Amino acid sequence: MRPAHAIIDLDAIRHNYRQSKVLAPSAKAIAIIKANAYGHGAVAVAKALSPEADAYGVACLEEAMELRDSGITNPVLLLEGIFEPDELQQVDQHDLYMAVATERQLGWLLEAKLSKKVHIFLKMDSGMHRLGFSPADYPAVYARLAACPHVGQVTLMSHFSRADEPDQPTTERQLERISQVNNSLGLNCSLANSAGTLAWPAAANQAYVRPGIMLYGASPLMAPDDPSHALLKPAMSLRSEIFSVRELAAGEPIGYGENFICDRPTRVGVVAIGYADGYSRHAQDGTPVSVNGKPSRIIGRVSMDMLTVDLTDLPDAKEGDPVELWGKEVDVNLVATHSRTISYTLFTSITRRVPLRYINQ
Ligand SMILES: *Cc1c(COP(=O)(O)O)cnc(C)c1O
Repeated sequence: MRPAHAIIDLDAIRHNYRQSKVLAPSAKAIAIIKANAYGHGAVAVAKALSPEADAYGVACLEEAMELRDSGITNPVLLLEGIFEPDELQQVDQHDLYMAVATERQLGWLLEAKLSKKVHIFLKMDSGMHRLGFSPADYPAVYARLAACPHVGQVTLMSHFSRADEPDQPTTERQLERISQVNNSLGLNCSLANSAGTLAWPAAANQAYVRPGIMLYGASPLMAPDDPSHALLKPAMSLRSEIFSVRELAAGEPIGYGENFICDRPTRVGVVAIGYADGYSRHAQDGTPVSVNGKPSRIIGRVSMDMLTVDLTDLPDAKEGDPVELWGKEVDVNLVATHSRTISYTLFTSITRRVPLRYINQ
């Protein structure tokens, strides 16, 4: 069996979910498990959290149906609402919560015939400028919703563009725009993603928070000394093994493009994982990995099925030794920085060639 695999620690995910509740004690927490729970397996994560999850958030009806089909009965929110009007029948049948973020979605909802009242998350564009109704239009849109017999609760939802940058004033400006409108409406709010939950108490202490990446143990606050890192436990350990070792003389190149030239006599370990497993081809020379629990680094370009690491300073390392690409030994945010990306893309890029093994069910 090829040794590349990911261990998913479900206890770590439960711990991280509980941290969102500690940070926002008065809020319900919508565990964001879109995109197959950021690569961690949506059904397994949903089942692990189901005794305590206030709700789940997914991107679309297909993702919600995967949860319902596997027996999950907790509330599920469609974060982007529906993409065509027929989907409303399943929203109704399966008791989904639904975002309304565009005029077209609003029209579909108001014209639909539903059997019961649906909980709407009415999106305000407070500055992100992707989805939602402007602060100026919002009260009139809310009035149309409130007059509709099959609309139940309405929650004011908005999203931050820079909550991961605690020194930037943008989040406060967004909060001001929201409260200017909501002072007269008095709606329950859902404002904070992980960064909002971790760094902006005024955003977190609302009716609902929406923690995503933090559930998986990666803080979106990238400063290495940010206190959020200590609150979270990494849930995924991406692992493989050294399956070949060789010695190269100084001056010899490694891999495609002769991208790395040995600057000393070098012991090279070949690891059975590559970009077709979802490991980033953009990982630079020096990207941290751990071999037998000891720090090492990538040298040479990442290939489709393998990558090469420097074992020169690990004389005991040998074929068959375990390698962690990220997880409890190697900080995924460091790998992301060396790959010029963010933890979100690393997690969601893992492909089906990598089996997920669950621990601490
Ligand atoms: C994905 C998503 C989140 C979660 O964001 P994180 O940064 O992963 O916490 C929250 N809200 C909405 C609307 C989203 O689409």
